[in-house]
Amino acid sequence: MFDTEDRRDRAVTKILKASFRWEGVVYKLTVHNFGDSEKGKLVIWQTSANLLATGEDIRDAIIEHVLQIEPLFSSPFEVRQIIDNDMPTGKWAIKFDNGGPTNFQKQMKMGRMTVLITQEPTGTCRFCGNSGHTIFTCTTKSDKELGAEVVRGTTGITSAVNPVIMEE
Ligand SMILES: [Zn+2]
Repeated sequence: MFDTEDRRDRAVTKILKASFRWEGVVYKLTVHNFGDSEKGKLVIWQTSANLLATGEDIRDAIIEHVLQIEPLFSSPFEVRQIIDNDMPTGKWAIKFDNGGPTNFQKQMKMGRMTVLITQEPTGTCRFCGNSGHTIFTCTTKSDKELGAEVVRGTTGITSAVNPVIMEE
C-alpha cells in the first residue's frame, strides 16, 4: 500500500494526529494492536435497571455507553434478563464475544438514570458456583436462570441493531 517505509510512517503519524467527534466529544484515535490476546475473550457484565426496562432498552444503553467510553470498540453482544424463581429481577446479563471495552467504567447512563455495571468472573458460574462455564451456559438447576428472550446488538461506531430472537 505504501511505496516506502518513510511514506508509511508519515501516514501513520497523520492518523495518530487525527481525532474525530462523536456527539460533541472529541476522541483521539488510538492504534489498536490486532494481535491483542484480549481478542476472542468472553466478557460478561451484569447491570440492574428498573423492572420496566426491556432488553432493547438495555441493548441501546450498552451501545450508547460503549460509544461514550470507547467508540472504536466493536463487538457483537447479547442481553438476557436474570430470572430468579421464575420472576424477572430487573437485572440483566450482557455477554461480549470479542472481550469488553478496555476502558471499563462501572456507571452507565440509561435515560435519566445511572445504573451500575459489574464485570463478572468468567471462570466461575455466578448461578451455581461451579467452574468451567458461565451463567450463559449454565445447565445446573438453581433458582436463577437467564430469560428466554435474547436481544443482540453490536457496539462501535458501525453498530447495527439486530432483531430480537426467542430461544427455546
Ligand atoms: Zn452454573
